[in-house]
Amino acid sequence: MPDAVAEPPEDATPAPGTDPEAESARIAAAAQAVKSDLEARAAQASGDAADVLEATALMAADPTLVQAAQAKAAAGTAAERAVWEAAVEVAATLASLGGYMAERARDVADVRDRIVAALTGRPAPGVPTRTEPFVLAARDLAPADTATLDPATCTALVTAEGGPTSHTAILARALGLPAVVAAPGILDIAEGTVVLVDGAAGTVHTDPTADQIAKAEQVARRVRTFDGRGRTSDGHPIALLANVGDTKGVAAAVEVGAEGVGLFRTEFCFLGNDSAPSIDEQVTAYRAILSAFPGKKVVVRTLDAGADKPLPFLNLHQEANPALGVRGIRTAAHSEQVLTDQLTAIATAAAAEQAEVWVMAPMVATADEAADFVARCHAAGLQTAGVMVEVPSAALSASDILSSASFASIGTNDLGQYTMAADRLLGELAGLNDPWQPAVLRLVQLTCEAGKRLERPVGVCGEAAADPALACVLVGLGVSSLSMTPRAIPDVSDVLRATSLADCRRLAALAVDSRTAAEARAGVRAQLPILDELGL
Ligand code: PEP
Ligand code: MG
Repeated sequence: MPDAVAEPPEDATPAPGTDPEAESARIAAAAQAVKSDLEARAAQASGDAADVLEATALMAADPTLVQAAQAKAAAGTAAERAVWEAAVEVAATLASLGGYMAERARDVADVRDRIVAALTGRPAPGVPTRTEPFVLAARDLAPADTATLDPATCTALVTAEGGPTSHTAILARALGLPAVVAAPGILDIAEGTVVLVDGAAGTVHTDPTADQIAKAEQVARRVRTFDGRGRTSDGHPIALLANVGDTKGVAAAVEVGAEGVGLFRTEFCFLGNDSAPSIDEQVTAYRAILSAFPGKKVVVRTLDAGADKPLPFLNLHQEANPALGVRGIRTAAHSEQVLTDQLTAIATAAAAEQAEVWVMAPMVATADEAADFVARCHAAGLQTAGVMVEVPSAALSASDILSSASFASIGTNDLGQYTMAADRLLGELAGLNDPWQPAVLRLVQLTCEAGKRLERPVGVCGEAAADPALACVLVGLGVSSLSMTPRAIPDVSDVLRATSLADCRRLAALAVDSRTAAEARAGVRAQLPILDELGL
């Protein structure tokens, strides 16, 4: 990748005689041109790519950025320098908010580079056009560039920086591109070197052997299908469900034949809202999802606002530690009506559609919270009410919680971060934040044991469910459903179908009794030759 646009010198001033008003107008025109270009590209794209391009286009014309730059230009700074400085300020504000907002700071830098390029008459920064297949290595990649990568030539993406939940990583997954982020050594690899990128394992191999290349090619060619019925080799049913956040995710889930939805992240429908959505607005959004699954289960999660997914109408105060703050079900204490309205909307949508609707609350930590939520659901006419187990205290109190809740769904993403006290957004802590950690698996085991005693189904809807080897362990621990990004379902199905329930139980014991995450992963993988056969 060519270097990004260089920072204009600090003392850059406009040519003598330049009218500050004209500089201001140039900034507005350049921002508008960048916005139009991104909008045109959005119109050519679809799904998440279109969304990101539209969001970046909006940022290009964001009055905060443009007006701050114009104020600097009015004070005598050259237009390109003024844009640069204003963007640095906006990015710093976003970074200080942490989590999801901090990751948007990269989008501001992209918009800044595009406006500066437009002002200085240089071509917009971007990915070089290539006709032969290539792996793209970059320090970081703007979401707008990722969105328009052509998977026919760009076969994989590796960045030195970037968090696992950045737009770049999300988009690469949506495009089906193997992507590895936070790989600092990638910039030292010479152009032209042959590399093998394994997005699932998060590894990059340089100079692979002919054998390794042949195997990777075989894996890439394998057609991945799912017949709509998850089960072990001896016929023990395990529902394979999809995680969705909007109607685009639904299309992918339907296409792959998911048995239903195990996690509908409702907050994703309203991330851009300043005020609480009306009941009608919610009913429309929920029906759009439910209507795609007549006769199938859809587990609707109430708003999980907070931490990396702030909603201004629920997260009322800035917090020092938002992941440990007022998020998920905790917001009901100050915004009870929002929860009541949401349950009303879910019940109304459920009554109008044919899906089998279950409801669950995020971030439940105590038996009282669970009982209170279940009572509210019943009052709204929603009979199957459960909770997510993603706080260690919930796993440790699973029996008390499941005596009121109809089911539990384990969120291994948060259960991992809270068990290991490791921020799930930090690439640097990925080793700690690993669902193979025996401590995390022991909490999953406790929850499953409580579910078995009380005859309540327990599922997993965190990213762990999408790892085929770990999926076998989770089944062995006693989960009855696995919910994941739709793309992962065929692989998980293939591996489960080659493994008996007894073997899953043996693997679960091996993993739980391991001393480290690495030992658990390696020990289990060594017992699953099917992974190698399928190249997983
Ligand atoms: C989880 O924490 O595992 C989970 C599924 O919820 P989210 O990723 O939306 O926090
Ligand atoms: Mg969670």
